[in-house]
Amino acid sequence: MFEYKKKEFKKTFIFILIAALLVAGGSVAYWWQVSHRLEQDVRVILEAAGRELADNMKTVLGSQQQILTTLAVSLEDDPVLKQPHNLIAYLKDQKENSSFALTGFQFADGKTVFSDNTVKTGFLPKETIDAVKKNNFLISYQTVSPLQSEQKSLLLAAAVRNKQQPWGVVFALQPISSYRDDLGSIVLTDISLSLLIDKQGKVLLSYPRSAEDNMFEVLQQARPNKKFSKEELYQNIQQGNDGIFGYIFDGEQRFLSYYPIGYNDWYTVAILPVESVAKKIKSLVFMSLVLCVSIVGVLGLLLAFILHMQQQNSKALYKLGFIDPLTGQDNANAFQLKFPAAAAAFKEKDQSFAMVLLNLNRFKALNDIYGFEQGDQALLQTARLLKEELLPGEIYCRSTADRFWLLLGCPSREHLADRLEKLFSRAGKNCQVEQEVLPLSFTCGIYVVEEETPFYIMVDRAKLALDTARQRAGTRYAFYDREYLQKIVTEKRIESNMETALEERQFKVYLQPKYSFETGRIVGAEALVRWIHPTQGMIRPDWFIPVFEKNGFVLKLDHYIWQEVISFLKNRQDKGLPIVPVGVNFSRLHLDDPQFIEALSATAQEVGIEPKWLEVELTESVVFGNTERMQQVLGGLHAKGFSVAMDDFGAGYSSLNVLKNLDFDCVKLDKEFLARGETNPRMRQVISGLVKMIKELGSKIVAEGVETKEQAEFLRGIQCDTAQGFLYSRPLPLEEFEKKLDEDNHQ
Ligand code: C2E
Ligand code: CA
Ligand code: CA
Repeated sequence: MFEYKKKEFKKTFIFILIAALLVAGGSVAYWWQVSHRLEQDVRVILEAAGRELADNMKTVLGSQQQILTTLAVSLEDDPVLKQPHNLIAYLKDQKENSSFALTGFQFADGKTVFSDNTVKTGFLPKETIDAVKKNNFLISYQTVSPLQSEQKSLLLAAAVRNKQQPWGVVFALQPISSYRDDLGSIVLTDISLSLLIDKQGKVLLSYPRSAEDNMFEVLQQARPNKKFSKEELYQNIQQGNDGIFGYIFDGEQRFLSYYPIGYNDWYTVAILPVESVAKKIKSLVFMSLVLCVSIVGVLGLLLAFILHMQQQNSKALYKLGFIDPLTGQDNANAFQLKFPAAAAAFKEKDQSFAMVLLNLNRFKALNDIYGFEQGDQALLQTARLLKEELLPGEIYCRSTADRFWLLLGCPSREHLADRLEKLFSRAGKNCQVEQEVLPLSFTCGIYVVEEETPFYIMVDRAKLALDTARQRAGTRYAFYDREYLQKIVTEKRIESNMETALEERQFKVYLQPKYSFETGRIVGAEALVRWIHPTQGMIRPDWFIPVFEKNGFVLKLDHYIWQEVISFLKNRQDKGLPIVPVGVNFSRLHLDDPQFIEALSATAQEVGIEPKWLEVELTESVVFGNTERMQQVLGGLHAKGFSVAMDDFGAGYSSLNVLKNLDFDCVKLDKEFLARGETNPRMRQVISGLVKMIKELGSKIVAEGVETKEQAEFLRGIQCDTAQGFLYSRPLPLEEFEKKLDEDNHQ
């Protein structure tokens, strides 16, 4: 997969992940919050419900107390009571008017009459009578009663007083079940169970279903919730306090609230399972979550769709921007994009790598001769070949028409060069162009990356190396070489300044005197050019002559020096001062100039200097393999009266045979030749032999580069004629040379 797409994908993935985490986190937080709130809500609901329940019971019993108490008051001192018959009728009346199931009256003597006409003796036990007397009113729970319908009932009793002396009790009986509705009349329908209990937990009444006999016994099996304790519940109920209790029963979380109803330490209890409330709220929450998730899902799908479209788009864009349409491989953009990571991988492994520019040679000719189709074929084959050649971690691309870029590992220059050679030979084997077999050939420029360098500079350096390789005949690759390039830069600078330098007469003639071994006096001089640059100072000819030889400027310069030398000689001659023959160096390029000899002669004639004062120095390398032309030139110069010296003899391809065929007036022994004789006795013998033979051929001998007395002694000993070297004098500016020459003549 493409690197950048991976990144995109990663980004999208992370985005979706974060979004999903946020939604999930939000949902969990929401859920937690809801669950947490739930408990509180349940408590609030339960407190309200519990209070309402207690109030209901209180109200119902209170109104019944009111009725009975009113009845009791109405019976006080009423004569009707004296006659039981009347009393029964009255009780009946009262019963009809109230909701009581049965009413009755018990006299102090125990005689009891009921609204249903029955008469009993001592219906109410003594404790009841006592309690009523004491409190004027009483409610108690009965498990046995004269009621036909139901045995379990409430007994309500009120004292009937006569002149402050209680003498009877009026009472009513009501089946306990008739209170059930009151117990269930609370608004909150989620209450699973409402109870009326006494202090001991005995269940007097329950709603909506029948309950166990004792609540406390049931609670024995319950596990209290954190924050609650059973002891507290029991204690509160003993002390008449209200409260709430949370517990788990049968795996179900429940809360119960208890409120005293103000009669007989009785309590109403409302029991609410959390689930019943939770279910409602949770289903609500669940619905909203489902909604939320589906919204997120829809949004996600939408996002995915947009991303997909974007990806399709960027795929197309990527193709446009990063793929070479011809080879289907990376283009320069892609290469540049991948380069940093690839380079970093090499660095990480501490391996050296190189930026390589590979050029498909003769691509344009291939196109022109065989057509574009074949040209394309050649490029495709190159791409395929390179792809096969790559090792893991290496990358390549086609950057422009016939140019490929490669990033290759470079354990050593030799190793890389080896690999390229192998690639060249593989490429050379076959590239089918129509019927013919045309070998592919490449040229490479290599920059071994050694430092932190911007990409474009690496390409630039590899390109410089490629240019170098293309310039050098027979070279198929070149490494970027800083020194070499610096040389090129200097050359360029020299070239751009040379014409001006000539016009401004920055080139100066220096003369180095030649001394006779025999007399020790100056017998000649050699003209050596110096470039006195206005800002860079003196530049030695070794720097600029090779450049001028390459660009041909040396032709102009040599003539200029020739002219300067002639003017110098003429000037002295005119002044009647002594002169010596001066040798002037001429590049081998002059040999191709048919006007060469004529021009030299013309100058001398114009100024009016006899040719015997002038010597032409030609280097030995010119002579080699060019004997015929050399003979012509020698003949021509001699005909004009100039003498000719062979320069740098012994430096290169020296051959006595050549010398035999050429009529040099003088042979100049190369300074290196002499220097080698310093250390090597056999060399001295060679030199001595050569000198002898050259003399036999009739040439004079000048030893160049004489630096030590020992050398001078040796040369004198082997009958060398003339010495030129630092031992005697350095090349001198004209005025200094004149001084030396004048001194020499006055001795
Ligand atoms: P060359 O023709 O062999 O000139 C002799 C070189 O040897 C000169 O170097 C000179 O300074 C140096 N030399 C003289 N005595 C000694 C010595 O005792 N020890 C050492 N080590 N060197 C000594 P220079 O002037 O730098 O010239 C270098 C070369 O440049 C010359 O070599 C010549 O080939 C070329 N050249 C100089 N002037 C011209 C010119 O006007 N035209 C052309 N075509 N070439 C020139
Ligand atoms: Ca010379
Ligand atoms: Ca020389």
